[in-house]
Amino acid sequence: MATQDDYSLLAPGPVNIHPEVRKALALPMIHHRTPEFDKILKKVLTQIKTVFQTEQDVYLLTSTGSGGMEALLVNTLSPGDKVIAIVSGKFGERWADMAAHFGASVLTINAPWGEAVKVSDVEELLQKNPDTRAVLCQACETSTAVAHPIEALGKITQKYPDTLFLVDAITALGAYPLPMDAWGIDGIVAGSQKAFMLPTGLSLLSFSKKAWRFIPDAKCPRYYFDIRKEKKANAAGETFYSSNVALIRALDVVLTLISQQGLEKLFHDIHRRAEFTRIFGLKLGFTLYAQSPSNSVTALLVPPQMDGQKIRLHLEEVHNITIMGGQDQAKGRIIRVGHMGYIQDHELIRLVECLGHTLRHFDSDFMSLEHISNITTEAKNWLEQNP
Ligand SMILES: *Cc1c(COP(=O)(O)O)cnc(C)c1O
Repeated sequence: MATQDDYSLLAPGPVNIHPEVRKALALPMIHHRTPEFDKILKKVLTQIKTVFQTEQDVYLLTSTGSGGMEALLVNTLSPGDKVIAIVSGKFGERWADMAAHFGASVLTINAPWGEAVKVSDVEELLQKNPDTRAVLCQACETSTAVAHPIEALGKITQKYPDTLFLVDAITALGAYPLPMDAWGIDGIVAGSQKAFMLPTGLSLLSFSKKAWRFIPDAKCPRYYFDIRKEKKANAAGETFYSSNVALIRALDVVLTLISQQGLEKLFHDIHRRAEFTRIFGLKLGFTLYAQSPSNSVTALLVPPQMDGQKIRLHLEEVHNITIMGGQDQAKGRIIRVGHMGYIQDHELIRLVECLGHTLRHFDSDFMSLEHISNITTEAKNWLEQNP
């Protein structure tokens, strides 16, 4: 299926891969302790700071994003530490659970699914608990497509000299502005198969100076994810364990592509796809699920008489387009369309047209052929008028 030219991968990760990056992935293997690879690693570790918008070092770990989330926790926390976890979906739940697993004393702020956390709720809880060691938040809660107010949360956390602001930016860093240093983020993790437009297998993370004050004495068990080993190895021009040669070489190409077009343009293109999906989702009869929608993924509530899981499956089996459904309480109620990765305009037009046909398949009264044809024409025009 994935070898066909008419297949569209429009999930919020993994994402479709740029042809130039695919070429890099097909190169013959080289050893990671070679001058050739050393050069690539050095270049990547320098260039990547531009995307993180930080002066701090960035680390590349061979793990999925969740491994990077774990690395942020175990390197900064000790058992018994008080942690405020913002939970508004699956990934917030996972991080709160992980922190509890490592012995943190977790205070949870639950925001309803589809909503962003209220900054004042975090402010109040921090006032009552000034001994909080870390505030945990997703930049984009991928399960609900909500963007949390990271800049505002960073401002509040900065007022507490011993409280760290840790951000899971796996579907945000590289998709929209999230300047780590300027926003007072103390630990941040990105993921290769999401905004970094690579296959799964790398987590990318960085710590602020403030976080480094706590790293030496953190008592949570850490071995593979001990960032001190990685820091030392990176300073010597290597990674501590075997380098992920294939993905780091591919990351080099991604970073080159980003630097050629500029971060602004990357963010613009993703924003444009999100805008397009929100506008044409509404025209097709969906409504927006997220009240503060992220640009990296859009969640659309399906018409009440329909089942989102069936829409997702039909779109894949009949039209060769992969999007995602909802999880848990959103299961069947929403579909999610990803905007990260290598996506071309003709895929967006086809998405609108095929979603129209899919809705018609389940309810021919809901969607006429004429309506599908009109919306598809409008979609083409919109993309031409909004480059
Ligand atoms: C995908 C995702 C994760 C988990 O990443 P894995 O690579 O599957 O471990 C964590 N947080 C967010 C916000 C995500 O979107």
